[in-house]
Amino acid sequence: MGKFYFDEFQDQVDEVLIRHRSILDILTKIQESSGRVNRAVAKSVTDCGCIQVNSQKQSIPKDISYSELKEHMSDHVDGYLCGVCKEKIEEEICASIFYITGLCNSFNLNLDDMLEKHASKIDMLGKYGLL
Ligand SMILES: [Zn+2]
Repeated sequence: MGKFYFDEFQDQVDEVLIRHRSILDILTKIQESSGRVNRAVAKSVTDCGCIQVNSQKQSIPKDISYSELKEHMSDHVDGYLCGVCKEKIEEEICASIFYITGLCNSFNLNLDDMLEKHASKIDMLGKYGLL
């Protein structure tokens, strides 16, 4: 398992997250930024049109193994993000990660440690098809 790289980012967030340092501001900023990610994706469909969402019931053949399942599951996205939409969505995701990191800092939770532990858990659950 490779080492994640969040220690530096976590220190950086600690230095600059001053105005919204209260846990209440952080929690509501997480919610707001998450909404902005959703909004940016929606605007890529409805405003820009570089992607389309074509959703329907997932069609899964019977008697396939769990490892074959991924080949039959669709993300329901057609097209590709244009440069402008990609940049906007990246920006909003990063803002969301910023406040998540601020939440970790409030409780002295180390993101590197957390993600490494979680990656092991994902590995194990993935093998048993529990994700
Ligand atoms: Zn676009």
